[in-house]
Amino acid sequence: MNQKAFIETIAALAVQEMARSGIPASLTIAQAILESGWGASELAVNANNLFGIKGTGPAGSYEKVSDEVVNGKKIQKKSTFRKYNNWTESIRDHTDFLLKPIYAKVIGANWKAACQVVYDAGYATDPEYVQKLIDRIIRYNLNQYDKETNPMSTPTLIIDPGHGGTDPGASGNGMKEKDINLQISLYQYARFQALGVPVILTRTTDISLTPEQRTKLVRDSGAKYCISNHINAGGGDGAETIYSIHSDGKLAHQLAEGLKTAGQNLRRVFTRQGKANYDYYFMHRDTGNVETVIVEYAFIDSTKDDIEQIQRDWKAWAEAIVKSFCAFIGFPYKPPEDSPQPPSKVVDKVSIEINGVRLAAQGYLQDKVSHLPVRAVAEALGVVPVYDPTTRQVTVNNHDLTETIEAGISYAPARELAAALGLQVEWIQESKTVKLMKGCVCT
Ligand SMILES: [Zn+2]
Repeated sequence: MNQKAFIETIAALAVQEMARSGIPASLTIAQAILESGWGASELAVNANNLFGIKGTGPAGSYEKVSDEVVNGKKIQKKSTFRKYNNWTESIRDHTDFLLKPIYAKVIGANWKAACQVVYDAGYATDPEYVQKLIDRIIRYNLNQYDKETNPMSTPTLIIDPGHGGTDPGASGNGMKEKDINLQISLYQYARFQALGVPVILTRTTDISLTPEQRTKLVRDSGAKYCISNHINAGGGDGAETIYSIHSDGKLAHQLAEGLKTAGQNLRRVFTRQGKANYDYYFMHRDTGNVETVIVEYAFIDSTKDDIEQIQRDWKAWAEAIVKSFCAFIGFPYKPPEDSPQPPSKVVDKVSIEINGVRLAAQGYLQDKVSHLPVRAVAEALGVVPVYDPTTRQVTVNNHDLTETIEAGISYAPARELAAALGLQVEWIQESKTVKLMKGCVCT
């Protein structure tokens, strides 16, 4: 196939995927050119795999031997790549790959920014990767394909997980506000994506943002609405929503009603004035004409039932906000397949103890297997888990783990994780606790 035919074939598919996802077609085409060598690579020819994504695909897998340099020695390494029935499947899988929260900023980005974003998020390690993509987009005028309608190019909503990084927000009862805010936000982001509501996030990981950076992201997003997710503290119980003094408060009321329907008690819906004609809260004051509602889901230091509710009902609350927002903008809503209906869906939580110390993070029990949060457990032992975005593989001490992602948090079976960390496992049925210990359990 010549270059012109290759571009035309990939462009037709990439434009369709752009309509579904908001990922610029030019980025997809440039990546396909670069990574498949114009469709001539061994993987493209024998496995219809244009992007070198590893694992098992819809048509099985393909093994390829490549030279790799490990500790200065050249070794031959056999890897398994996804096999597809055709290039359409490969392009679709590439879209799904980039729809993960770490690549959130690709959605609706202009092509130049998109090239930088994929690199920054860890898609490739070649330091010249960004320039190589940009060169190809310019040389073959690939950005012409972005001009076809990209419904995601302007987000309707920007979700702001409050705090992050060095600013934990409120804390109490072994929980940090920044983590709960992010968990809720990533869930909502995935749900709005699935429903087709154009959405972006102010942060997708545990990073610090100054109020100036945060409000600039919101102001410049082009979004009409912003939902800023928070957990309250300071004595109280129940949810609050807060709107700007320049707003009619309708959205805030509708979101609050949603939380009430999902079983949370409503404390108040309010607005607060600072000086003269200005809002008290910076998320209202400095976010320009983006209508921002601060949602405080519960109190992290409540003496009533909020603590239990946060752990049990956060997903139902997050979903309630998704539903209410859709109703507010008149967007068709469909519940998720695993509709969280508290308290009918009982998930068995599992406590974690490492060398006798109880961890704040919890795991869960599924089919009699305990799944533990990889990062929380590894970091408690001073080990940093490694996530390879290309293979979608999480490793701890070079051990591959079977990963399940729940609301942005990666879980692995307790035994696998313990083995990777060189720990013994013990299961205490009465207290539903996984005990991880150093050394042998000699009997
Ligand atoms: Zn907060």
